[in-house]
Amino acid sequence: MLRVAVVGSGPSGVYAAQTLVQQREVPGVRVDVLDRLPCPYGLVRYGVAPDHEKIKSLQGNLRTVLEDERIRFLGNVEVGGERLTTARLLELYHAVVYCVGAARDRHLGVPGEDLAGVHSATDFVSWYSAHPDAGTDGFGLASVRSAVVIGAGNVAVDVTRILARGAAELAPTDMPHAALGALADSAVRRVHMVARRGPSQGKFTTKELRELGTLPGVATVVDPAELALDPAYADPGAALPAVNRRNVEVLRGWAAAPPPERDGTAGGRSIALRFYLRPVELLGDDAGRVAAVRFERTVPDGRGGVTGTGTYQDLEAQLVLRSVGYLGVALPGLPFDTATGTVPHAAGRVVRDGRASVGEYVAGWIKRGPTGVIGTNRPCAKETASSLLQDAPALARRELPGDPLDALRAAGLRPVPWPGWLAIEAAEADLGRSLGRRSVKIPDWPGLLDAARAAAP
Ligand code: NAP
Repeated sequence: MLRVAVVGSGPSGVYAAQTLVQQREVPGVRVDVLDRLPCPYGLVRYGVAPDHEKIKSLQGNLRTVLEDERIRFLGNVEVGGERLTTARLLELYHAVVYCVGAARDRHLGVPGEDLAGVHSATDFVSWYSAHPDAGTDGFGLASVRSAVVIGAGNVAVDVTRILARGAAELAPTDMPHAALGALADSAVRRVHMVARRGPSQGKFTTKELRELGTLPGVATVVDPAELALDPAYADPGAALPAVNRRNVEVLRGWAAAPPPERDGTAGGRSIALRFYLRPVELLGDDAGRVAAVRFERTVPDGRGGVTGTGTYQDLEAQLVLRSVGYLGVALPGLPFDTATGTVPHAAGRVVRDGRASVGEYVAGWIKRGPTGVIGTNRPCAKETASSLLQDAPALARRELPGDPLDALRAAGLRPVPWPGWLAIEAAEADLGRSLGRRSVKIPDWPGLLDAARAAAP
């Protein structure tokens, strides 16, 4: 038998486990999928926005894999801490595949980033997704009139949409009750989503962009003159990749809409999409809270980038969410490239001191950086699994100390097995019923662990 640990139960981890047990070249592969949280599914549970139910439903596919009898889910197991080092993990398994994602957010590196009211979009996403490590202060939404979201990727679109959407529309989702309450009390009227480059260079996908124009009672506002700064926007014949071309078409449609449609209904909310503005400073009030963001107007430099023009514009903001990409975090004991935030690898094999380390592998965002949609993880995980399977004859020669679960328990860990996760799911359904909602997520560690242990002490 070949025993493999997959660290991380998001899409890349689950696809890696699936490939390993469903292939025929190496019989008898058994996989333990470990996760720091007691809940599986990674960013599908804690990153995909609650109102994106279709994408969320991918959890059903991931569940089917994790319920395979050759796979064992063990939640609440932190790898890289004192109790379970990466070196110890490799003693317990023939091979380890790290699928730990990119847990941190990038910073802007401009003055004022530490003002109250300035947060990362990932903190906001974690909060409305009920991540148990998220802060729960509600982001002061009751006193925010104007919010600025910096960045033009799909995460920026997600947080912009959640800020603009009414709580009534979010009530049927599994959003935690406190977050729903804070959004219901929100005073937000205008959300600015601001890109430093042009409309043809947005990183968002068209479906997500278009959705911003479909929110009831919310106007999408664009400035035709600002859009036209982009040569590829101004020229309908410009050769653009399909997704960028479709994005530009959506923006052209909004720009052409008559003013009442674009400027919104009286008292309603609006989303302003801004381009060619790069953040240079966050400005505070006397109490140390953010009050505005200062942007420099940029223009295309003819090579896909932008240059500053020396003219500035301030946008009012009592809340600023920077949404400029995720960043991988080093795991003690594993090599790490700080420039890219990834683990160096060759076809998924971890590279140590210039050589591929047989027995240690990576897949997903920690391997290739925080890009791509969920499906991108499938070929990525397959490549890694096939490297591992090529190494299997050498790996399987080593005798293991026994069932790794015993060693994890002996190290003081209290793994949450699959029935524990099912008990969390049941508790979330009960919580929803008690609140007159559908299933509602439990947002804290004690709540999750108590629920898990009620079924599997
Ligand atoms: P992203 O797609 O890499 O977008 C990052 C954005 O931040 C870009 O617009 C970038 O502009 C901008 N940016 C970077 N540094 C900046 C700076 N210093 N100042 C101003 N702007 C800056 O990252 P993401 O939105 O975090 O998404 C991560 C991945 O998850 C993506 O692959 C995304 O598609 C995926 N995702 C998908 C969905 C979905 O399918 N619904 C939802 C959420 C996330 P430049 O282009 O100019 O660098």
